[in-house]
Amino acid sequence: MKTLVTRSSMPPFEEYVAMIKPLWESVWLTNNGALHKQFEEELKNYLGVTGLSLMTNGHMALELALQALGVAGPDEDGEVITTPFTFASTTHAIVRNRLKPVFCDIRRDNYTIDASKIENLITRKTKAILAVHVYGSPCDVYKIEEIAQKYNLKVIYDAAHAFGVRIKCGTKESGIAQFGDASMLSFHATKVFHTIEGGAVAFSDTQTGDKLYRLKNFGIMSETEVDYVGANAKMDEFRAAMGLCNLQYIDREIKKRKAKTERYRMNLKEVKGITLLPEQKGVIPNYAYFPVLIEDDFPATRDEIYAELKDRNIFARRYFYPLTTRYSCYKGKFDSFPTPVAEEIARKVLCLPLFADLSGETIDTVCKIVDARRFQ
Ligand SMILES: *Cc1c(COP(=O)(O)O)cnc(C)c1O
Repeated sequence: MKTLVTRSSMPPFEEYVAMIKPLWESVWLTNNGALHKQFEEELKNYLGVTGLSLMTNGHMALELALQALGVAGPDEDGEVITTPFTFASTTHAIVRNRLKPVFCDIRRDNYTIDASKIENLITRKTKAILAVHVYGSPCDVYKIEEIAQKYNLKVIYDAAHAFGVRIKCGTKESGIAQFGDASMLSFHATKVFHTIEGGAVAFSDTQTGDKLYRLKNFGIMSETEVDYVGANAKMDEFRAAMGLCNLQYIDREIKKRKAKTERYRMNLKEVKGITLLPEQKGVIPNYAYFPVLIEDDFPATRDEIYAELKDRNIFARRYFYPLTTRYSCYKGKFDSFPTPVAEEIARKVLCLPLFADLSGETIDTVCKIVDARRFQ
């Protein structure tokens, strides 16, 4: 049997069918329907955010967030400071908005943007910081906020990995999507929480909400007025129904992922040459991924382990390799600043399979293959 790096969680079939049944009465299938409205409200509560706009997917959410915040616009030579250690979507969203990505290196302890290196990259063209909560680990949100205020920059988070993550500050707990001017969430089938395809922008400013609402519906203001060059990025009722069903189970899902993660950690914590992602202080995680680094002093390379697992029908993923700066579509396009830590992590990282219903035996098998010497 194949084990993939992730597997979508499915709600009970009957619950989904019951949720979509009223659509045969209303025949209102998209454009801000009843389920869409209900889902938006329930998500706002769950995430602890004041504003949320549902989208057809995470990538469009990110493209439109850059537009709604005025980062992308007629002035086409704006720069956005970002990270190359991410999924294609993050860099593409900048470039497709005709903005220039300026790549900043990442931290060694959680692979998010290294805030201490941001200021050096700021020029008079810099408009925003687009940082990624990689594997659900929060960026240094307070330091980034400070820099943004000092230089009057917008802050956008790619929170595709971070659904439900919370940060503790004293006795207060904040949802990760409360930080920055906007956060993009992805509800793609491979994510911790999904609506098949889907996404959202979380924001705090109502003006941003109004703009997003128009941008995702062709810029239409009223029957006769169109005041933005908008796209179509709406979420339909069937996907909102999937979201409403999955939201009932999300806490249980995360709890199961926690147990799987703990089993991996137990098995691998003492293996020399394997580095686990350090647990993040003051963070309530979502256990979205289980990345390991295969260090240079380990007897096998990352790619050898990846191939060995693949031969045994276990499909780990080299997230994020290559760095987006190495894509052929970006070759020679942007001045590249050295990002040595990102290069190194991309060369060593392997995400092992992790999902709620992954069996303990499969975890043990994966660990035995990874650490063949110790288990033989
Ligand atoms: C999944 C993902 C996206 C894109 O989200 P979609 O919903 O698939 O469009 C963007 N950034 C990161 C880091 C992702 O993992």
